[in-house]
Amino acid sequence: MVKIVQLPGEIWQIDLEDCGHLGRTAGYFVKGQEGWMLVETGPASSLDKILEAATSLGITPDNLKYIAVTHVHLDHAGGLGVTAEYFTNAKLIVHNKGSRHMVDPTRLIAGATKAWGEKKMAEFGKIKPVAKERVIPVREGDIIDLGNRIIEVWETPGHAKHHACFYDRKTKGLFKPVAGSMTKVKGTKTAKAIVAVSPGKAPTIMPTDTPNVINKKFERLNI
Ligand SMILES: [Zn+2]
Repeated sequence: MVKIVQLPGEIWQIDLEDCGHLGRTAGYFVKGQEGWMLVETGPASSLDKILEAATSLGITPDNLKYIAVTHVHLDHAGGLGVTAEYFTNAKLIVHNKGSRHMVDPTRLIAGATKAWGEKKMAEFGKIKPVAKERVIPVREGDIIDLGNRIIEVWETPGHAKHHACFYDRKTKGLFKPVAGSMTKVKGTKTAKAIVAVSPGKAPTIMPTDTPNVINKKFERLNI
């Protein structure tokens, strides 16, 4: 059974069980007046977890408005194609430097196969292309509107050029991939630096990577 943790502010954390590993990647369902948003799909092999969580929360192809991925690495976004195929009305939010690799994943698959090998690729599951017209390529300053809820796009290059965090104004929560110091945030290296680049916003970190580790370390840090 999928592990779902309800967070304050109508956010649900889903353990995507990346390639069978509990607590390694997380997706988040975020509820707005005009529908839901999913942050991060995980690899294609995590689709069952997303569907199970969606069913239990009442999320359907009719009310899932957006699917956003933080970057196009397969452990975070390899499932975008298969998830989009199920949630047929959702627009797909991808960093503008990574979006073409979701539309045509040929190079992504070739690069990942070289890096990970065939066995790991089989564990990630089938990477399907997404329709270009459904993709919203985003950059710094763009917003995602869920009605009563605005999510900001923060470009956070470092781990990858096509790397973004999503800042939820309602909870002052930041959906952030890749743990702690591994991610440069606008040229800086620590989680606290996120606050430095956005003074007064006091984000709570909601990691899409190693959620267990980060939750222990930062305890949904209010900094
Ligand atoms: Zn990555």
